[in-house]
Amino acid sequence: MKKIIIANWKMNPSDLAEAKKLFAAVKNLDAIICPPFCYLYAKIRPSGAKFTLGAQNCHWEEKGAYTGEISPKMLKSLGVKCVIIGHSERRIHFQETDEMINKKLKAALKFGLIPILCIGEKEGEDAKLVVDRQLKEDLNEIIDTDIEKIVIAYEPVWAIGTGNFCEPQKAKEVLGLMKEKINNNVLYGGSVSSKISADYIKVGFDGLLVGGASLDVEEFAKIVKNV
Ligand code: PEP
Repeated sequence: MKKIIIANWKMNPSDLAEAKKLFAAVKNLDAIICPPFCYLYAKIRPSGAKFTLGAQNCHWEEKGAYTGEISPKMLKSLGVKCVIIGHSERRIHFQETDEMINKKLKAALKFGLIPILCIGEKEGEDAKLVVDRQLKEDLNEIIDTDIEKIVIAYEPVWAIGTGNFCEPQKAKEVLGLMKEKINNNVLYGGSVSSKISADYIKVGFDGLLVGGASLDVEEFAKIVKNV
């Protein structure tokens, strides 16, 4: 089955000219590109691009008095197909709770976006306990036929942006625990590089969520090719 590769550009690149260059460089890659909101506007992207467009976050309401927020309906109207929800950087820096994440998942599904739900333990926490709890709370009261549409990214928080990736065999153990509970596509994310990317697929992951390395076009292209 086709593997899913997602690029999370985070708050990069730092201006429009650089964003246009990066879009042009990844034009022919079969991947999902999640740039900052302001770069989602169609005119910035090269025509005929092969990649799919994703967003890094959304609000749970359709519209209203939520200054600074972007709704899933707005994303949909820009041609966005999927949205990262519950990334650890949002949980940590913006105090996103599992209750908020649950509302965002429901809203994304309502407006026809594929949610990419990020879960994972912090340094020193028990991966199984955290992943179990996050799945239970984040997916609360979402019907089974909708749950199936959600892509789950196992992202140990201690591995994100640290260069300290989770060994594929260790990640496989958590994947096994998750697959006992859910039947979704599960990706791995956390300091993925081209050297290690194929190993996560070999142990059973359905794809990868790539942060830092997705800004280096040559490196990201290698990851896409390896997978
Ligand atoms: C991420 O942002 O989801 C991520 C996995 O980042 P990095 O690859 O830089 O660890």
